[in-house]
This record gives sequence, structure tokens and C-alpha cells, in this order.
Amino acid sequence: MHGGRALVVGGGIGGLTAAATLRAVGWDVTVLEQARALAQVGAGIQVASNAARVFAGLGLADALAVRAVEPTGIDVRSARTGRLLHHTPLGDFARTTYGAPYFHLHRADLLDVLVGAVPAEAIRLRTVVTAVQDRGDAVTVTLDDGTTLDADVVVAADGIHSPSRALLHGPARSQFSGMVCWRGLIPAERVAHLALARICHVWYGPDASVVAYWVRGGELFNVVGIVQGGAEAVESWSARGDRDRLLADFAGFEPTVRGFMAEIDDPFLWAIHDRDPLPWWTRGRVTLLGDAAHPMLPYMAQGACQAIEDAAVLARCLEPVDPSRTDEVTAALQRYEAIRRPRTTEVQQQSRAGATVFHLKDWRSVWRRNQQLRTAMRADPAVSARTWLYGYDADRAVDEHDDGAIAAAAATTVSTSGAAAVADHWSRPVSGR
Ligand SMILES: Cc1cc2nc3c(=O)[nH]c(=O)nc-3n(C[C@H](O)[C@H](O)[C@H](O)COP(=O)(O)OP(=O)(O)OC[C@H]3O[C@@H](n4cnc5c(N)ncnc54)[C@H](O)[C@@H]3O)c2cc1C
Repeated sequence: MHGGRALVVGGGIGGLTAAATLRAVGWDVTVLEQARALAQVGAGIQVASNAARVFAGLGLADALAVRAVEPTGIDVRSARTGRLLHHTPLGDFARTTYGAPYFHLHRADLLDVLVGAVPAEAIRLRTVVTAVQDRGDAVTVTLDDGTTLDADVVVAADGIHSPSRALLHGPARSQFSGMVCWRGLIPAERVAHLALARICHVWYGPDASVVAYWVRGGELFNVVGIVQGGAEAVESWSARGDRDRLLADFAGFEPTVRGFMAEIDDPFLWAIHDRDPLPWWTRGRVTLLGDAAHPMLPYMAQGACQAIEDAAVLARCLEPVDPSRTDEVTAALQRYEAIRRPRTTEVQQQSRAGATVFHLKDWRSVWRRNQQLRTAMRADPAVSARTWLYGYDADRAVDEHDDGAIAAAAATTVSTSGAAAVADHWSRPVSGR
């Protein structure tokens, strides 16, 4: 135990995972969460192997496994015809190729496991952070009731609208993607007639797509449908949508999709936002993590997974430092950022490219994409495996990090155009990572 004190702003998936990883390496951590209670919306989440590996390291894999569904693969189909375009093996293939299982979970179940990993007294609810000030030898956090707290490190995991990010970078609105997202959870018995396999089901349609999978051990079927060109709805996980509009949005989809959409009684509607990658995350003893640092579109299903990776790398970087030494703490946070920012920038950009891949409508582009996907599907799965994404090992990333990479990371060019990555969205390797 080295007695360093860390404050984590935000008790979402990123903040709670950071609390767990930092505690595991001896930091004294308090999570400051503005909400009255910790809660995640009623929706599913894909915890890919790269994130499941972090949870395994925390001893949480079994707790997750009993609540999860482990899909055997990802099937991509044409929305109109239902024809199979691409298959990515998961299940045992994921365990052996990526070194950890791939889970589908209800967000509330993931939250339960994370809360169990952090002592109750380390989570302060109804605690709104209004200012974060790096004083050199410590950081002072100001709360909305005027009280202040000091720490050796502040990790701002306060989400896409992160006030901490605004304090570091100035206020800037997130960008509406032009897409809205429908979501619903359906009890298993209501879709039994559709015999939906325990895979991640994906449908590509013109200007719309659907991703759907089982959660909670197969009790619930989770549906996410995204539509391009929707009017900007309230960006809130709890905004309700009109059921007739949901059915109209997916009326051109194959019967299976229409079949389960018809079973969603009370759909939720959500406007999808993201932001451009940031040029830096760290100032002194303060750094960003998760959506506060790198919010992304959901097309790689990696927003939370990247936050979980952040938490693992951050803890490894902070493990050996003397918290009283500003130079050591600052160097550790810079090292964390240097390891993480190039990767999260890549995933943010590929997530934007995913919107193009999923929603093509010009028939030539659709034909070309479908040909490429079917060709890729025929290749040896070991060759087209997404090892660069799902095989990430935070410990290895830290061990292999060369400090010279800090300079390279600073020079990372940030492209917001995803078009170049269209063809290889499903299997693009990233050199050097
Ligand atoms: C449709 C959709 C599907 C997705 N599917 C997946 C998926 O399958 N897999 C995946 O990995 N990711 C997925 N994501 C992304 C994922 O949901 C997010 O990346 C992830 O939840 C971000 O977690 P976070 O902890 O960084 O932020 P958040 O969950 O936003 O948590 C931030 C917390 O900070 C608190 N906070 C904010 N301001 C303050 C303050 N001033 N003081 C104190 N507390 C504060 C908030 O109350 C909140 O609890 C999806 C996203 C969408 C929109």
C-alpha cells in the first residue's frame, strides 16, 4: 500500500472500473457521483473479450459469467433479404483467440458486479463536482455545496458531457450524429416463435441498422435499432419513443426483425452524439477516462470496453508511483494517456466509419460491401480475427510501451473522415498495437 488518494468523478462503468483497478493496486479511492443512486438503464451491453480480460484480472469473470450470455458469434445480414453477409466466430473461438470470453450483459447486471467490487463507503452519491483545480502538490475538487476535497490524483470519468473535460478544454457541445437509436428489452417468451440464436444479430439496411442479442442468461432479448436522419430527440436514456414510428422505421426489414420489433411495447428513443478525438487528456494530476475522454458512436460496441481498458492501464501506470512526488504522478498520467489515446482515437474513428458501413444505400456501394464481407467470411477466421481489438491486453500494452511513443502519440493525426475504413470495418488490423 502506498497510500495515494484518488478521486474518481463519475460512477458509470468507466468510473467504477477505475475505482476497482486503482484499489487493486493499493490506491485509496473515492467515487464522486452526482446521482442519488447508482443505476444503469434497462438495456444490454456487449462486454467484448478486451474488457472481459480486465474483469478477469479483477476476479470478476465468474460473477459476470453467471449473469451473461456468451454469444457463439456475430452474424451480419442484409436487412431486406435476411441473407447472411458475414460471420465472426466468438464463444470458444473468442476464449482461445482473444484470451477471454465475449459477454452480452444487461447493464444493470454489469453494474451490480462492479458495485460489488468497490466498498460502499468508497462511493459518495449525491455529490456534484463543480470544479477541479490542480495545485501542483495535490488536486482540489470543489462540490456544489461549496466543500472541497483534496487528492493526489483526480480521474474524471464523468461521461460525454463531462464538466471536467469542459474545465480542461473549455465548453463545447457534443455533436449530434444525425442518427437516432431505438432500444427495447423483450421477455424471452414473447420472441420464442422466432427461434433467435444466442449470437449477436446484426442487420445492415439503407440508412438504418439493427443489433440484437440475448442478455441475463437468455431471459431477455435486447434490441437496438439505429435510423439515419431522425430528428434530434432528447439525448436521454429514459426518453420514450412512439411505437408506431418504431415499426414504420423498420418496415422494410426482413420478417424476423419486424417480428421482434412488434413485441417492444414501450420503446426508448435516444439521439446519438459523439465528439472529435481530443488532442490531450492530462493536466498535472488530473486526467480523463471513458466517455469523458473519447465518446464514440456505438458501431464497434466499444465505448464502455475502451473505458474499461483505460481503467486497467491507468492502474498499472499509477501502481509504482510515490503519490507525494508530482513529477512521478504527472509522468504516470502522461504515460497512461500516451498508451491509451492513439488506440481510443482509432476506435472512435472506426466507430464513425461503422455508420457508413452499416447504412450504405447506393446499390453499387452495397453490392461492393456485401461482396467484400462474403469474401472475408470465407477466409480462415484466424486470419480475419479482430485480434487488434478484442485481443488487447492492458498489461502487455503497458509493459511494451516505449516512452518514445509519447512523442509519437502527441503527433497522432486526427481524421474525422471514416470513409477510408469502410471496406475493412470487420477485420482491420492496426499496425503497432
Ligand atoms: C446505443 C448505445 C449502445 C452502446 N453499446 C455499447 C456496447 O455494447 N459495448 C460498449 O462497450 N459500449 C457501448 N456503448 C457505449 C457505452 O454505453 C459508454 O461508452 C459507457 O457507458 C460510458 O461510460 P462512462 O463511465 O465513461 O460514462 P457514463 O456512463 O456517462 O458515466 C458518467 C457518470 O458521471 C456522472 N457525472 C457527470 N457529471 C458529474 C459531476 N459533475 N459530478 C459527479 N458525477 C458526475 C454521471 O451521473 C454518470 O453516472 C453504447 C452506447 C450507446 C449510445
